[in-house]
Amino acid sequence: MKKVLAVLLAGSMAAALAACGSSKSTDSAAQSSAAQTSTTEATGASTEAGGAATEAAAAATEAAAQQTDLSGSKYLSDGVMTVALNSTFPPFEYLGDGSDDFSAITSNPTQVTGFDVALVNEIGTRLGVKVEIEDMDFDGIIAAIGTKADVAATGMTINDERKKSVNFSDPYYDATQAVLLTKDSSIATEDDLKKASSIGVQQGTTGDNIARGINDAATVSVKSFNQAVADLMNGKNDAVIVDQSTGEAFLSQNPDKLKLLPGSQFKFDTEQYGIAMPKDDDVMLGAVNGALEAIKADGTYDTLVEKYINNYEAQ
Ligand code: GLN
Repeated sequence: MKKVLAVLLAGSMAAALAACGSSKSTDSAAQSSAAQTSTTEATGASTEAGGAATEAAAAATEAAAQQTDLSGSKYLSDGVMTVALNSTFPPFEYLGDGSDDFSAITSNPTQVTGFDVALVNEIGTRLGVKVEIEDMDFDGIIAAIGTKADVAATGMTINDERKKSVNFSDPYYDATQAVLLTKDSSIATEDDLKKASSIGVQQGTTGDNIARGINDAATVSVKSFNQAVADLMNGKNDAVIVDQSTGEAFLSQNPDKLKLLPGSQFKFDTEQYGIAMPKDDDVMLGAVNGALEAIKADGTYDTLVEKYINNYEAQ
């Protein structure tokens, strides 16, 4: 782990130095250009400079990828990172046409796509490993880590119970559970949920735990969020407890029939998502956290949030 961290640090220092060097030379190029001639030329020079800085950053990323030593990783030393997820969790993972077109969830369900898929692909690129996706039931994912899959990236909330079985990366997204209802529903408080006759959840999720805590007898756990939401639409469920962003995604497909109430209205706690990994691979933990840090630092993270998570909100 020490070795990997050192290598990653060296990589990011090289990136910082490269960026520094090129922006300095750029500045002076722009300045002398501006001094000598017109503003137009100066603008041209700073555009070129921006290009050089981008190239330098790309080269540094590549160098870091080449230098990340995964030979001590029990699971990644084979050059492949198998990623478990459940593809009924838009906008983090859903079946679409492979683009960021959110309407593709229903129009062309051929490929798993979404924020987590893009994120693990970025991590894979930076670590120099091939990424393979394994779509499975959510409630089987923890058990699959270290056996059928090397990691899980599926909007998984970090909690103490799961930490007994897996390592988590540093948090990468803040979330809360919310309550998805049909538009005409009168449910608005925790007390109302106590009186509900059927609360739909995806089995094994934090929403499942919350529902059981409020009204165990009414909790109906199903294998997928798609199923829970379909049951809500056809009147089998009174409510679905689901992560806020995922609730918004389902809402965006049926805005005339559904509404989403925030978890704060039901006193739900905040949660954070992490990438889950086997407990017996500290090299992997260090490498994944290093890649995540770099992805956040260079703006890639924000680009992905904009592309996948904020994408449908604007529609
Ligand atoms: N964040 C929730 C959990 O960890 C739901 C995740 C999911 O269904 N993919 O349980």
